[in-house]
Amino acid sequence: MTDAELRELLELTDPAEQKTLFASAYAEKLRHTGPNVSLRGLIEISNICRKNCFYCGIRSGNRKLKRYRVGKEEIVASALWAYRHHYGSVVLQSGETVSEEFTAFIESAVREIMERSEGKLGITLCCGEQESRVYERWRKAGARRYLLRIETSDPEFYGKLHPADHNFQARVNCLRRLRELDYQVGSGVMIGLPGQTTDQLVRDLRFFEESDLDMIGMGPYIPHEDTPLGRGIEMTQEYRNGQLGKGLRMIACTRLLLKDVNIAATTALQALADDGRERGLLAGANVIMPNVTDLSYRRRYQLYADKPNLDENSEESRDDLIRRIHSIGETILWDQHGDSRHYFNRKQKEQKT
Ligand code: SAM
Ligand code: SF4
Repeated sequence: MTDAELRELLELTDPAEQKTLFASAYAEKLRHTGPNVSLRGLIEISNICRKNCFYCGIRSGNRKLKRYRVGKEEIVASALWAYRHHYGSVVLQSGETVSEEFTAFIESAVREIMERSEGKLGITLCCGEQESRVYERWRKAGARRYLLRIETSDPEFYGKLHPADHNFQARVNCLRRLRELDYQVGSGVMIGLPGQTTDQLVRDLRFFEESDLDMIGMGPYIPHEDTPLGRGIEMTQEYRNGQLGKGLRMIACTRLLLKDVNIAATTALQALADDGRERGLLAGANVIMPNVTDLSYRRRYQLYADKPNLDENSEESRDDLIRRIHSIGETILWDQHGDSRHYFNRKQKEQKT
């Protein structure tokens, strides 16, 4: 597809044309992953963050927030809950902390989850930018996948979304290093950021392509009132619909372009519409990350307004999710890691060359 064609698809407004786009992306998904959904139990392990991204509710500058870090035993207990409920894999996500103490903490949590699940639970980490030796230790401990969104692939725009000491190139370097360390590498962007253009989204799609990513985790931007970027944006129904549409069209274009990667239908879609994640699946996504964090922490990990499932425990969310996924004719891949096919395809190619 040319840039002009991608631009046109990303800007579709006609409902019938959008339906056609989603249907062809869904058909592409069926060809590569079948009518299947992989689940990752999401554990929000800490809202302590050294960064101050202008869009994020848990940025260091948000003094209203009480900070927490879940203890190791509780993290392992949540992971084992996901394991017993056949989720197949978990994601440990947190604000960015860089210290030997944090490195060792994650390392030991990953080891213990591996041991106590007899190596059967796949572990993804999403703990920000770290030094290479840190990624290496976590990989050796048993983590298989790492998510690090580039947020936007336009360095100049990145500069407008972050304070001056947040470095676009450092993030790109982290993605490269993760790949060298044999992680399945995931990245993504926020969609519908104030000031973002369609050309920038096209460039994001090209960035995904050129980086040969294994997984894409992206979602609509949702304002948070205690952030510089979100202050004063009114969440009208029209705004919600607009953000949701942009997010879904971006998922569809990503599936059409990247074909065999894992694409998440992220929680931000559900924050905009009750059936947002199912609509994400029908637009080409194949992964859902149900929150399995203990309820006592969830209110303190609000990246944006209207975070869903704040009061619904993991058991209730699970039952609801199963019903919803089945209602659109998809099957859950229980007890499977749900690895990225793209990862194995690129490994095969690398071996041949
Ligand atoms: N701190 C790590 C990092 O930034 O890579 C991982 C956790 S961070 C909370 C995970 C993702 O949340 C970010 O990559 C960002 O894209 C997303 N996020 C933050 N604020 C958001 C907002 N207002 N709307 C939508 N997504 C947001
Ligand atoms: Fe911290 Fe990640 Fe939020 Fe940026 S997006 S403030 S790094 S938690």
